Amino acid sequence: MVDDSTLFHIAERFGTPTYVYDLEAIRRQIVTLRGVLPDADLRYAVKANPCGTVLRAVAGAGVGAEVITAGELERALRAGTPPERLLLGGPGQDRDLITRAVEIDIGLVSLDSASQWELWRDRPIRSTRFLVRVNPGLDPRTHDHLATGAASSKFGLPRAEATELAADVAKVGLLAGFHVHAGSQVSSLDVYDEIFALLIDLYAGFSDLALLNIGGGFTVPCFPFSGFAERVVAFAERFGLRIVIEPGRSLVAEAGVLLTRVIHIKEGERRHLIADAGMADLLRPALYGASHPIRLLGGGRGEPRAQDLDGPLCENADRLGQDVLLPVVDRGDLLVVGEVGAYGYAMASNYASNLRPAEVVVDGPSIALARRREKPEDLWRLEGG
Ligand SMILES: *Cc1c(COP(=O)(O)O)cnc(C)c1O
Repeated sequence: MVDDSTLFHIAERFGTPTYVYDLEAIRRQIVTLRGVLPDADLRYAVKANPCGTVLRAVAGAGVGAEVITAGELERALRAGTPPERLLLGGPGQDRDLITRAVEIDIGLVSLDSASQWELWRDRPIRSTRFLVRVNPGLDPRTHDHLATGAASSKFGLPRAEATELAADVAKVGLLAGFHVHAGSQVSSLDVYDEIFALLIDLYAGFSDLALLNIGGGFTVPCFPFSGFAERVVAFAERFGLRIVIEPGRSLVAEAGVLLTRVIHIKEGERRHLIADAGMADLLRPALYGASHPIRLLGGGRGEPRAQDLDGPLCENADRLGQDVLLPVVDRGDLLVVGEVGAYGYAMASNYASNLRPAEVVVDGPSIALARRREKPEDLWRLEGG
């Protein structure tokens, strides 16, 4: 990871709050994942971190991309991902997005509904092959907002409907296989056992399928990759399938930190550190109750005590950490919020006219600004009057 003196230097040079990504850490994660599943086809879930420099590094390592919007599709292409390494998913594929995907002859499409297939079926399809997304109807044992594999979620089709749609697509020779994404931050292998039990029935009903897309959603930190790999490889071998995975968080989360400066300290019932970063810069604590490791840059003095790290906005939810054990912190000190390389800047907003932070990329000895901090004029740049 980027050392403390480099982080001090970055805060000095680019100001705070600032996201810092370590490209070497991302490349190491790619190597680790390839070690776990050597034959798998990796498609990075762009929504986790769409920063251009990050996307170029991922594409440069030969990893494809999973995209769900026109914006993500264009970003991935711009970063150098070849169209055949793109996978278009999501429940919202509309005519325009499909037209563009046909135009670039996109490699893979995950169909989320029969209604989507209606928009695809009469297009002049060249190399594109299709996956049918199955809703496994399970309890993925994760936060409600992340439980995309639950029966009540809008994603994918229940078994009977998935089989029917797959048969339709197979009839015209374009079916590659099925797609399941259990949800995000899934850590239980039991979830995958349930999924494979369902997939056996589905795959047994078709011959000559080429792919299994088992999604992403691997917990950070500590996903049980070896147990996962054992199960997915055994399944793939049984049906002669190539495995596709769509890791987002697990490739980039640990490669990113958010540097924030303490601007005020308030003592009361609790000790509040008011920082220059809050929910508009990092939404995960407010939205998911996520807990991120937080430390004082450069280490510290004194007994650690519980303190709250609060943001600058007028919202109770504007908090990055509660009861964080930190040593003595003074006004002006720098804090490092860890594991924010995924769904960090990606979910940052202009709420309360917040100026979104800078993004800085460290690649070995090189330090570069990937995206500058927003200025007030960026806020009204798109307004007509
Ligand atoms: C969000 C998403 C992913 C990536 O999830 P992570 O938790 O970031 O790994 C993969 N596939 C689909 C379909 C997704 O919606």
